[in-house]
Amino acid sequence: MKKLLTLFLFIHSVGYATDPYKRNAAIDVQQYLFQLEVNDSTDQISGVARVTIRFKKSITSFDLDLATKNAQGLGMTVSAVMLNGKSISYRHQNDRLTIQLAAASNVNEQLTFEINYGGIPLDGFIIGKNKFGDRGFFGDNWPDRGHHWLPVIDHPSDKARVTFVIIAPHHYSVVANGIKTEETYLNVKQKLTRYEEEVAIPVKVMVVGIARFAVQRAGVVDGIAIESWVYPQNKAEGFSDYATAVQVLDFFHRHIGPYPFKKLANVQSKTRWGGLENAGAIFYAENSVNGKGDHVSLIAHEEAHQWFGNSASENDWHHVWLSEGFATYFANLYLEHAYGHDQLVKEQLADREQVIKYYARNPAPIVDTTLTDINKVLSTNTYQKAGWVLHMLRHELGDALFWKGIQRYYARYQKSNALTDDFRLVMEEVTGRNLKPFFDQWFFRGGHPRLSGTWSYSLSKKELTLDIQQTQKEPFFSFPLDLEYVSKDGLKKTETVQIDSKTSKITLKADFEPSEVKLDPHTWLLFEGQIQKK
Ligand SMILES: [Zn+2]
Repeated sequence: MKKLLTLFLFIHSVGYATDPYKRNAAIDVQQYLFQLEVNDSTDQISGVARVTIRFKKSITSFDLDLATKNAQGLGMTVSAVMLNGKSISYRHQNDRLTIQLAAASNVNEQLTFEINYGGIPLDGFIIGKNKFGDRGFFGDNWPDRGHHWLPVIDHPSDKARVTFVIIAPHHYSVVANGIKTEETYLNVKQKLTRYEEEVAIPVKVMVVGIARFAVQRAGVVDGIAIESWVYPQNKAEGFSDYATAVQVLDFFHRHIGPYPFKKLANVQSKTRWGGLENAGAIFYAENSVNGKGDHVSLIAHEEAHQWFGNSASENDWHHVWLSEGFATYFANLYLEHAYGHDQLVKEQLADREQVIKYYARNPAPIVDTTLTDINKVLSTNTYQKAGWVLHMLRHELGDALFWKGIQRYYARYQKSNALTDDFRLVMEEVTGRNLKPFFDQWFFRGGHPRLSGTWSYSLSKKELTLDIQQTQKEPFFSFPLDLEYVSKDGLKKTETVQIDSKTSKITLKADFEPSEVKLDPHTWLLFEGQIQKK
């Protein structure tokens, strides 16, 4: 997910501020099958969900998330819950569907529950006209809006395989996660389309889109088809703009690890976000298509999520930087690959400015376990600051070890879940270094170094002396600081010094008299401040 298009304030939420998500450790969803029927005369959807659950403990009831009908009549109504062809009892209130088992489950038992339900979704499934006046239906689950139209465990820790069976008016095309395995004209009006995703994915990136589309195969990388799905009126611009996704996929596929899904569709849609990284079917805002090819960074961000977020997923919302920080930095890494290192520097400078501004308003750390409203996990901290921390980690470790660590982290946690410490342990394993101080100061504490310093040069000793202060409140940071000194006639030298305390006095041998000293000349440190001649 890249950009907010609508203020979260307007989104219905189920009151997480007072009711943090309680996960049920006794159940693990293995697979969802959603058979949904949509039509052109009403916004009513009706369907059957088959939810296959493995029981990790013996229990007699469990909850799924499913929005209840509100006073305006928006929301879902359940008409039956079945197990092995028999109705079983359930309660549906306060956005929870509580399913009662006739007998306690056995440990490791796997059962498939069938839920018959329907209604008009309040959110999570956007039904309406696009900018050309054409009707369409677009899933938009991120972060926990899936339960407005699907009975699910609406939390990224419980990933599952998903099949969508969509019955829709036959003039629509259907796109979803996974591979299309069936398309059947049922009668003169309706068509059935079936998609199956065999990799377990979080609900936040499960999706279906039903609309009139122009569809093009933009390219193939290592057997993976990359498709563009755009509004027919935008065909020329859309096919051109989305084609860049082929080079992006190729770069990540070669540098991170094998692309996790069987196809990638890039879809023009009614998502409220600038882009939403739905697994194998990225949805972009409809105005992302303009024929100018100026959304490369957005496309790279959403594609990076296929590895980080969709395949290697954060195990809890407080660690969402494992999605968003990675996607932010990997988009910048793609831009560096495509346009050169100066482009990366430009992006990092812009991001740094944002991080510094954001800190003035909100001094929280990247991993902020005090947050109970999950809508607030989206921030400059989890995007740009976390991206910056990856950038600094790369500088500390060097490119070879950085990439080795990234590849090993992905290989270990692909199709699985991880927390920040899991990532740290992999990076420690690869480097043989204790990275706990680095992770603690950058991910688990707020802020960044604010530096102020003076320098002087002794011609007789040929020594450059620097006095550098960290002026922020404690704690003080430990970091390598690059310094560049430049002479009047253009001689240049870069040195790296280690800063570990509030005050550092450093003396360097310098063969020529500097006219200027620059802190962090190559943009590798998240900091603010400067150094002046004494
Ligand atoms: Zn994102």
